[in-house]
Amino acid sequence: VYDVIIVGARVAGSSIAMLLARRGLKVLCLDRASFPSDTISTHQDQLPGSALLKRWGLLDRIIEAGTPAARRLRFDTGPIVLEGAYPAFEGVDAVFSPRRTILDKVLIDAARRAGAEVRERVVVEKVLASEGKVTGVQIRSHSGVTTTENAALIVGADGKHSLVAKSVGATTYNAQPPLTAAYYTYWQGVSLSGGEIYSRARRAIGVWPTNDSLVLTYVAVPADEFHAFRADIEGNFLCSLDLGGDIGERVRSGRRVERYYGSADLPNFFRKPYGPGWALTGDAGLAMDPVTGQGIALAFRDAELISAALEAGLGGRQPLDSALAAYEKERNRQTKPIFDFTTDLASFPAPRIEQEVLLRSIGGRQNEIDRFFGVLTGSTPMPEYFSPGNLLSLIGFSGFLKIAGRKFRERSGPTPEKEPAPIPVS
Ligand SMILES: Cc1cc2nc3c(=O)[nH]c(=O)nc-3n(C[C@H](O)[C@H](O)[C@H](O)COP(=O)(O)OP(=O)(O)OC[C@H]3O[C@@H](n4cnc5c(N)ncnc54)[C@H](O)[C@@H]3O)c2cc1C
Repeated sequence: VYDVIIVGARVAGSSIAMLLARRGLKVLCLDRASFPSDTISTHQDQLPGSALLKRWGLLDRIIEAGTPAARRLRFDTGPIVLEGAYPAFEGVDAVFSPRRTILDKVLIDAARRAGAEVRERVVVEKVLASEGKVTGVQIRSHSGVTTTENAALIVGADGKHSLVAKSVGATTYNAQPPLTAAYYTYWQGVSLSGGEIYSRARRAIGVWPTNDSLVLTYVAVPADEFHAFRADIEGNFLCSLDLGGDIGERVRSGRRVERYYGSADLPNFFRKPYGPGWALTGDAGLAMDPVTGQGIALAFRDAELISAALEAGLGGRQPLDSALAAYEKERNRQTKPIFDFTTDLASFPAPRIEQEVLLRSIGGRQNEIDRFFGVLTGSTPMPEYFSPGNLLSLIGFSGFLKIAGRKFRERSGPTPEKEPAPIPVS
């Protein structure tokens, strides 16, 4: 009998397995995949995520694997272009984009080193319960042998279509249907000096350096364009890149070295993350559109939060239920602002005068540009940045009058077409 069985061994599952094993718990972590292996995901690890990797002693392994640091960002809305650097967060000053073949393997190795048992190529077929409480899982090995394992708690770190969540009927809230579809691929021989984000009407583009000197390009389109886009992926992908400055030209001067990966399976939701004998974390508990590239860093943050709750609850220092209720509350408090920001961007909203005034007002003020980039990566607290006091101090009274004037004119009659709103991408 284990203290905790974790279903799923990628960014959420392996980091919890590592943290719980480091706290002395007996942990079994299961995944149907074998590692190293890829998964459908781009891989910007935002600054707070890399800060956790650093705290766990793993960031050096990611860097040693040849993952480049993107210290600078170009944020281009068409009429407005901001360039700057990320403000450091707990000693990390760059966005790293490690391939999942590297990141997930580094985490799994760390979980094993900490004493967790990790089994690969095993499918969890069933969640077992007795008298209303989850007690274990039924597992099928690669060779077809079925066994059961029991634990005080089963954690679903099994992704957005979580079997654990389905089996226990976890309640979903704040849900929104998929808003975007995303395609991405990799290029060799493309010059790049940091990350690049382009927001255009009905398109968001991200360009990031990754392992093996490759450049990752990502294009998000409204979900309702998925089928049309799919009809000519390369044509539509390159056309989209051509909207972003010279990025289309730059990738054509290089060579595409992988296929196009795409997904329209990009739901947005929170799930109640605990109940009798079970808990959920990572995408199984909370998923959002990848346009802001948050899932990995949030999985790491939640691994910290939930492993502390489980240690307190299973160790008898606090009733498990109340420890996990506190986990849910803290997860939601920290995530709701970026969730709302993300779903708003992913809806490709009509241009907003507030955004234009804000971005124009920080243009040329390097410190403020960098602070805004901190909002995008999570190193500048979003509620603080978007507080009325801070916004007024940034845009000044003249900015306020400009917004009020535009709003007044909008109410009085039709307005001319405007440039698209800024849309950060993952
Ligand atoms: C197109 C796209 C781009 C993205 N870009 C970014 C980005 O740039 N930055 C970022 O931070 N996030 C990004 N994300 C989000 C990120 O991929 C997820 O948030 C993250 O992978 C969630 O990790 P997880 O460990 O919770 O789940 P997953 O990565 O989904 O892992 C779940 C694991 O559980 C295993 N599993 C599931 N069911 C079973 C079962 N029954 N038995 C055994 N094993 C099982 C699976 O095999 C899998 O390995 C992107 C996502 C997509 C789709």
